[in-house]
Amino acid sequence: MTTGDGLRAPTSADSAELEGRVAIVTGGASGMGLATVHALARRGATVAVFDLAPPDRAELASKLTVAVDRVRSFTVDVTDGEQVQRAFTLLLAEETRLDILVNAAGIAPPTAFEDITEDEWNRVLAVSVHGTFLCCQRALPAMRSGGWGRIVNFSSTAGKTISTAGGAHYTTAKHGVLGLTRHLAKVYGPDGITVNAVCPGLIDTPMARGLLPDASLELATRSFPVPRVGLPWEVAELVAFLASDRAAYITGAAVDINGGDLIV
Ligand code: NAD
Repeated sequence: MTTGDGLRAPTSADSAELEGRVAIVTGGASGMGLATVHALARRGATVAVFDLAPPDRAELASKLTVAVDRVRSFTVDVTDGEQVQRAFTLLLAEETRLDILVNAAGIAPPTAFEDITEDEWNRVLAVSVHGTFLCCQRALPAMRSGGWGRIVNFSSTAGKTISTAGGAHYTTAKHGVLGLTRHLAKVYGPDGITVNAVCPGLIDTPMARGLLPDASLELATRSFPVPRVGLPWEVAELVAFLASDRAAYITGAAVDINGGDLIV
């Protein structure tokens, strides 16, 4: 949808851009997921957090500057099909629609290749790839029936090259997320649904701080064209744009946000 001459966007980046939209953010309890919850709710969306340990109301109120009644918490392990199904059923019973899905849940153990156990390999792929598959599969029918949808999957610079600190399983999982994103973009574009991935570089979150000591993080980012670590809200703003009407012609993209660390 464009306005007559195609020069003006149908919506602007105002505070009510996502009013009436219902969103799910997996991994929304921390880091970039939490920043995304904030960015979507600030634009008027109702946001459901799917996380292993989702924040309660008091925690949300202390962390967000938006009305917390726009945010719902669900305890979900995204690798478990039954838990995912239960949370979708509860949410859709109350909200009756679903417009936006952001798959941000992820884990990144730094284990050396020869030390990765089969269980750990499976777990890392399960959270990023299987969890994204399960949530996309349950979200798409609701988006199709609404004739509009936005899916934003968290890949990484690791999905295009290799991870700075995560192991081979993490790099493999983030490549997998890009494959799934591209496939779904192709299939569901005609239904008004866009499917994109974001590929963050080093972003200042509990995950990155857990992998790299503060000094290594500063050192690793000093040589970037933008010589500093990225901030969660900077990624969340990109996600919120991809989730808006203004990004209707972007699908199947893997959008870099990395301070220029990887220029391709
Ligand atoms: P984070 O550790 O701060 O947050 C990740 C969240 O995912 C946590 O709240 C955690 O509880 C949740 N989670 C983990 N396993 C889950 C499961 N099975 N079910 C439901 N929730 C689960 O991490 P972050 O740095 O904000 O990362 C967000 C996403 O961005 C991840 O997919 C990560 O791989 C990716 N990423 C991070 C960086 C970085 O530098 N921080 C860079 C590139 C990509």
